Amino acid sequence: MRKVIIAGNWKMNKNLQESMDLANSLKKELSGVKDIEMVLCPPFTSLGAVAEVIKGTGIKLGAQDCYWEKEGAFTGEVSIGMLKSVGCAYCIVGHSERRQFFGETNLTVNKKAKALLKEGVMPIVCVGEKLEERKADKAFDVVKDHVVNSLAGLSKEDMLKTVIAYEPVWAIGTGVNATKEQAQEIHKYIRGLLKEMYDAQVAEGVRIQYGGSVKPDNIKELISQGDVDGALVGGASLKSDSFSQIVRNSSK
Ligand code: PEP
Repeated sequence: MRKVIIAGNWKMNKNLQESMDLANSLKKELSGVKDIEMVLCPPFTSLGAVAEVIKGTGIKLGAQDCYWEKEGAFTGEVSIGMLKSVGCAYCIVGHSERRQFFGETNLTVNKKAKALLKEGVMPIVCVGEKLEERKADKAFDVVKDHVVNSLAGLSKEDMLKTVIAYEPVWAIGTGVNATKEQAQEIHKYIRGLLKEMYDAQVAEGVRIQYGGSVKPDNIKELISQGDVDGALVGGASLKSDSFSQIVRNSSK
């Protein structure tokens, strides 16, 4: 059985004190939750402090991006070794905001995913179509391109450690979430792709999160879908009550 995974992507929000306050509050609200894997992805500057707050709890730490080189003259970048040194178990790669504003491509996502897996950090690989692509009936093609090329060359063992986040760009931060049917249709399609690329064991084992305007009141119907294994949450992860309600409403 795939364990539900709910991750909060804080994006470029929360300074050091605000991050510690939110993490402390979530630690209290979510103590005792066992059936759901919870991941907090604060900005780089807060990773170490949040790690201290959640130490010894069931909450895990994730980064929002990384660079694939180990060290050196790459001004502004953060290596996977550095992320590990502050306790990151996960790292988001290929978020649509990085694809849109920072030149992320399937190739760079692929390099990051491979480097993360080599270092023992689990990638959360984001895929998803833009509104105009959906309107032009290209959603499946775009998702296939993202999945096949972002995950190219991953071994079966590595693929099983990887989480895929289906995040339709038109649903991110807009308040318009994909319906449960729209989400399920694409998640099922992704599982089919994994079966073609690998085998039934991988297709059934990989967790596929949905992301895009997830809120406490829509998570129940999204998570009720057979191929939806969790959520990547942006806006609603910035408040303790909404994120913890999402977690609590996510039991299968
Ligand atoms: C995200 O950025 O990953 C996201 C899903 O954002 P939101 O929940 O705000 O739509």
